[in-house]
Amino acid sequence: MADTTDITVAEIHDLAYKALLANGCNEQNALSIATTVSTAERDGSESHGMFRIPGYVSALRSGKVNGQANPTAETVTPAVIRMQGDGGFTPLAIERGVPLLAEAASTFGIALMPIVNTYHFAALWPETEKLAEHGLVGLAFTVAKPKVAPTGATKALFGTNPISVAWPRPGKTPWVFDMATSARALGDIQIAARDGHEIPPGTGLDSEGNPTTDPNMIAEGGVLLPFGGHKGSAIATMVELLAAGLISEQFSFEAAQNDNNDGGPARGGELLMAMSPEVIAGDDWEAHCETFFTRLSGLEGVRLPGQRRHDNRGDTGPRKVNNELLDQIRALL
Ligand code: NDP
Repeated sequence: MADTTDITVAEIHDLAYKALLANGCNEQNALSIATTVSTAERDGSESHGMFRIPGYVSALRSGKVNGQANPTAETVTPAVIRMQGDGGFTPLAIERGVPLLAEAASTFGIALMPIVNTYHFAALWPETEKLAEHGLVGLAFTVAKPKVAPTGATKALFGTNPISVAWPRPGKTPWVFDMATSARALGDIQIAARDGHEIPPGTGLDSEGNPTTDPNMIAEGGVLLPFGGHKGSAIATMVELLAAGLISEQFSFEAAQNDNNDGGPARGGELLMAMSPEVIAGDDWEAHCETFFTRLSGLEGVRLPGQRRHDNRGDTGPRKVNNELLDQIRALL
């Protein structure tokens, strides 16, 4: 077991904020990213918490990402609002964009928000949950550099291409899932490699195209497989088309071609979508959907996605952060 230190969520926020500020972020960007990182740690999304700080800093130090970015909204149509990220990390574009998207979807029933010219390094549930807090169904899609082989291939073409969907449940935490379309997220593979854990069969292939349970073999020259065989492969393709083709941003393979490999995220877009059940289904949508959730969660053995994170959120105690990682981040100050 890796050595860890107990550290509060407020201390995590402070450390992340200072590391980003010391390396080229302005206050607004540093605060927005620190909130993304500390809420990930709060919810137990370890692979998108402090673990990402060295990568954020590498991308600032190499000059690839604009730490002073000023994301702005452009109205394409009343129901399509594009966020121009100004070459910065995505959190500030999301923070500014979500209220605009929520307002448009609440008015028209459905609205889209392409987020372009940004660098994505986070989980997607924060933005879909925010939309659900506005009483909206929230969907989010993004691509990353190729690490996943399409079904039948041994070479990567897809990123780990996550999808998140949140469904509003007024007065309750939303139903929300957020998953990579690879068998496992790359961050989990990197953490398993760091901590010396094996990963389950069916997760990936080594550099020769052979199945492996060694995370190092996947991380170094190997590939991940899509979840669910050809079905996951098709869904990963859909994410490429929605989060790159539809919004005129880079496909995963283009992100790799144009990246400087500094250890931070490559440039890529995100597509956010919001739908209003109030507008589309009418007044009784909430009671109607609760009958479904009651049946679903009443089945023995079922837990709702998001439940683990929401339970973690209720724990106000300190979080355990890997000591080597903490030392690495403190050295960035
Ligand atoms: P997991 O496989 O751990 O979880 C996927 C979803 O399934 C979660 O919503 C989880 O809810 C839910 N879930 C897990 N176990 C159960 C269960 N037994 N019953 C019901 N629901 C369950 O996530 P991944 O490893 O696929 O992805 C991790 C993160 O990586 C995501 O947040 C994703 O956005 C992020 N990511 C980001 C990328 C980027 O480029 N920015 C690229 C790829 C991934 P719960 O959280 O409550 O456990």
